[in-house]
Amino acid sequence: MQIGFIGLGNMGRPMAENLVRAGHMVRGFDTMTVHAEGVEIMDSAAATAADTDILITMLPNGAILKSVAAQIIPDMRADSIFLDCSTVDVQSAREISEMANAANVATLDAPVSGGIGGASAGTLTFMVGGPEKAFLTAKPLFDIMGQKSVHCGESGNGQAAKICNNMILGATMIVTCEAFALADKLGLDRQSMFDVVSTSSGYSWSMNAYCPAPGIGPNSPADNGYRPGFSAELMLKDLRLSQQAAQTVAADTPLGQAATQLYQTFVEEEEGLGKDFSAMLPRFEQRKRC
Ligand code: NAD
Repeated sequence: MQIGFIGLGNMGRPMAENLVRAGHMVRGFDTMTVHAEGVEIMDSAAATAADTDILITMLPNGAILKSVAAQIIPDMRADSIFLDCSTVDVQSAREISEMANAANVATLDAPVSGGIGGASAGTLTFMVGGPEKAFLTAKPLFDIMGQKSVHCGESGNGQAAKICNNMILGATMIVTCEAFALADKLGLDRQSMFDVVSTSSGYSWSMNAYCPAPGIGPNSPADNGYRPGFSAELMLKDLRLSQQAAQTVAADTPLGQAATQLYQTFVEEEEGLGKDFSAMLPRFEQRKRC
């Protein structure tokens, strides 16, 4: 397939390189000067999108995605696919779908879970919204860039799945960190706490696979000075998207709201910027009940 790839940053570059390694021809564009092994770098987004079977975007947010979409859709071939893998708001995903459909271009919103490590290793999970026919066409590419792709229904549903997942993740990480800090103060050692919880009803991905306590459980950013990993500011971005979406449909999400407020304070007023999102544990260690 002839593939265009716009947004060759931390995630996009290794994803594009994996497509090249699998034998696809990939043209790419980024507003920064970038090098991606085997990717032909173009001088504009429009030139990247023209005459491609599938155009992939991996961009920072919905506003940038919408401006790129407006630039490139007029140059895209009818019956080609606009595949966005960025994490953006549900509304932007649905607006882009309408814009593209008017030009006979199919869209898929396919945000990912798995982070930079998953992007490099080709082990991402894709949550995909959009028409089934386009999903099936893109499936071989999901299989190269990732290990799992789930078709979640209509346009925007991929983004909906992503923010619901990350709302669970944010709230779960906070309570896991709270519980470790509480256990410390109660005199329960961390290894015992992990051994019990990771095999009891409190288990979770945050505890079992990404334990926020250094030296406990599998290797995680906690063992690397809380260098990300998945940064606290990216978690804040996703939590904000979850609350924005909750507001549009009047959904009651008190824990999602509290998690958003905590990560906002952590990133904007405390020490959280640039740290992994599991660095909530040292934060709670230092704090007293107010
Ligand atoms: P990044 O900032 O490293 O990459 C984004 C790239 O887009 C940059 O290289 C930037 O120069 C480029 N860009 C910005 N505006 C552009 C434009 N108008 N035209 C072309 N290129 C443009 O970010 P990232 O970490 O690669 O994340 C990309 C997306 O993936 C985000 O939506 C993020 O929320 C999501 N995501 C990231 C992770 C992660 O761990 N980093 C995990 C899951 C999802």
